[in-house]
Amino acid sequence: KSRSRSRSWSQGKCPDWATSEKKEATRGAPRVQAPEDLPVSAYKENIINLLLENRIIVAVGETGSGKTTQIPQYLLDSEKFQALFENKRGLRIAITQPRRVAAVAMARRVSDERGTRLGDIVGYCIRFEDQSSATTRLRYMTDGCLLRECLGDPDLANYDVVILDEAHERSMHTDVLFALMKRAVQNRSGQLRMLVTSATLDTGAFSQYFDCPVLEVPGRSFAVDLHYHPVSKTQRVEAAVNVALNLHVREGPGHILVFLTGMEECEQAVNFANAKLQSMLDSGKEVSDCLIVPLYGMMQSDDQRNVFEEVPEGCRKLVFSTNIAETSLTVAGVGFVVDCGYCKQKFFNPKTGMESLQVTEVSQVQAKQRAGRAGRTQHGKCFRLYSEETFHRSLPKVTVPEILRSNLASVSLQMKAMGIDDVVNFDFMEPPDRVRLVKSLRLLYLIGALDADGSLTDLGRRISQLPLEPQYGRVLLAAADLQCVSEALTLVSMLSSEGIWYRPSRQNAEQWEEAQAMQERFVHPLGDHLTLVRIYTMWEDDGCSPSWCKENFLHFRALRQARDIRGQLCEQLEKVSEASIRQAVQGKRDRERDRGRSRDRSRDRDRHRQRDHDRGSNRTSKSGTDAEQALLQSLCAGFYMQTARACGAAGGWLIVGENVLVKCESSSAMDGSPAEWVLYTDLVGSTVANCMMRTVSAVDHTWLSPLLPKLTEVDMKRIVGLSKPTQAQAQAEAPKDAAQTVQEREDKVGSA
Ligand code: ADP
Ligand code: MG
Repeated sequence: KSRSRSRSWSQGKCPDWATSEKKEATRGAPRVQAPEDLPVSAYKENIINLLLENRIIVAVGETGSGKTTQIPQYLLDSEKFQALFENKRGLRIAITQPRRVAAVAMARRVSDERGTRLGDIVGYCIRFEDQSSATTRLRYMTDGCLLRECLGDPDLANYDVVILDEAHERSMHTDVLFALMKRAVQNRSGQLRMLVTSATLDTGAFSQYFDCPVLEVPGRSFAVDLHYHPVSKTQRVEAAVNVALNLHVREGPGHILVFLTGMEECEQAVNFANAKLQSMLDSGKEVSDCLIVPLYGMMQSDDQRNVFEEVPEGCRKLVFSTNIAETSLTVAGVGFVVDCGYCKQKFFNPKTGMESLQVTEVSQVQAKQRAGRAGRTQHGKCFRLYSEETFHRSLPKVTVPEILRSNLASVSLQMKAMGIDDVVNFDFMEPPDRVRLVKSLRLLYLIGALDADGSLTDLGRRISQLPLEPQYGRVLLAAADLQCVSEALTLVSMLSSEGIWYRPSRQNAEQWEEAQAMQERFVHPLGDHLTLVRIYTMWEDDGCSPSWCKENFLHFRALRQARDIRGQLCEQLEKVSEASIRQAVQGKRDRERDRGRSRDRSRDRDRHRQRDHDRGSNRTSKSGTDAEQALLQSLCAGFYMQTARACGAAGGWLIVGENVLVKCESSSAMDGSPAEWVLYTDLVGSTVANCMMRTVSAVDHTWLSPLLPKLTEVDMKRIVGLSKPTQAQAQAEAPKDAAQTVQEREDKVGSA
């Protein structure tokens, strides 16, 4: 669908070369040939020999040197190497990629190079899609897929060689695979070989961890001139397009690769660029041919191919890409790079307890990788949309590995779900802090995701399938049982969206007071959580309009974001919950809409305000509606360890089990409240002495009393696995049955 959008034919030419050639894919003769003098080709014998002599090796070579496409083929085609394995089914090689697109693109490319049909000798496997068969020898797959295979078959008996590619990316799955593979290689006594490949030279950590030789493949790159062209963060897309089109108009041959942060930005840039190019042409400018294409992970695979197609003489490619083209995918013939300086990274947000993709500065290593893309085939140029000072002072040196930025409760839960029992002593290459790991297990136990022995429960399995911090996952599942799932989805979405309150500057006293007064009306007597739900519901009743937000001093973007998150969560929850979530939510929405319609017949502004006021000040029912009560009770299921009891004398609340006195932040609805028990989802402040509860609600002690005893019963040694009897102890203690005793006696006789 995006073909017409993504191609710009500035002189009205029709691109028939692109469509006709594509269809007759890959049967018979090789459709394409590997570039002739790739840097790895000189090292073919070295690689084969090294992997003959060693069970594990690390190979380093810069992006585009042929690691992903060539090395697997070298091994597959080497008789010497094949002879190493005692199987008759033929050599089988798995090659992992952290990204789905890369797994598919690489399999397609290699299968093209070999002139075979995709899924035959060369195939791929990504989540929800397996394009491989019994004849498949080279299987490109995401690291997540191989990890799942490890669950069922820890020794990976299906493969003779495993290549963990793109190791420098340090994706969480690859990091966990490092350890699992090390073990599997040991168990398979020489019949499983492993190759770790990386694009960056910093391989000390790898070779130390695996205790193996490192092969360095020197690149053959050209110099890249760096130009700094700082722009403000908010203008990066437009600036990137302008710089790119300037290059297109002025510069000689070489494709242009622009790095942006995500799909939306890439699509936006494609549109901008097309429009600009059109207006240049309209104004009579001479502009040469240009093929404008986006490149990101979620693209349709056919559209992806456009990026790699060759273009006719004199035509330039302009590619707007996410960091996927940094090291995973190589667009041949790039001479110019524009780097916006940002990328999207998954982050754990301790404030909301949720993981989210955030736009962050790239690391220096990433910036260098990006620039390097311009110098593979010619003397290149790279335009950085930030200053040289920013590069040195502000950009972090290296990208922090995913496992160190992720929430550990969620990491631990995922490992448990993968069948890795001893999370604390797991052989991580770069282990997260041990105390944090233990704490994460305790939390998982408290919410019922693990049992007293630290084993995953059924509840835990379902929580692990939700893309949420486990405590919030627990709340949603509790809400499904307590028939308030619609409210719970709203709450979790509102909490994970960025700040909703619009706060005018205090200097503008009048506006500031008006904002205060307007926002005051939303406050729910039972606390901040129900306040958030109330705001969202009123906004939805009003038809989700921006004007309503403006009137009420709320950020429209934040509410819209909450709505998007809510939609996604609803789908995910539907998959793991036993109850029919969609029905519950839909039924509820219909009722709400009807209510909204009858009320909204007249859109007279005053009445409208009056209505908001009526609802906002509907504080007479101090105990809240049934659904509100149920929501607070659901919150307790995930957060009962984050509750506090009023401490009359001191004028604050004492956190359960911790003897820490806390107060509410002044912005909280519960500030100054006489509530006996409160629950908080955020605690702010850096020391125990200055801790403040942020998002707080009043809760009923009867909901907590069945849960609180668990806090004191918890036996950490058992959960962590320290008090589990070792196998030898267990055998010594277990009553021996006759057969075993006989066997033992025979063993003794034998050894004597
Ligand atoms: P590495 O894994 O070392 O980054 P690759 O094996 O991915 O290198 O790529 C080697 C070379 O093959 C690249 O330099 C590029 O020229 C070419 N190539 C790879 N994939 C494609 C593709 N899909 N289309 C065209 N050329 C490709
Ligand atoms: Mg590669």
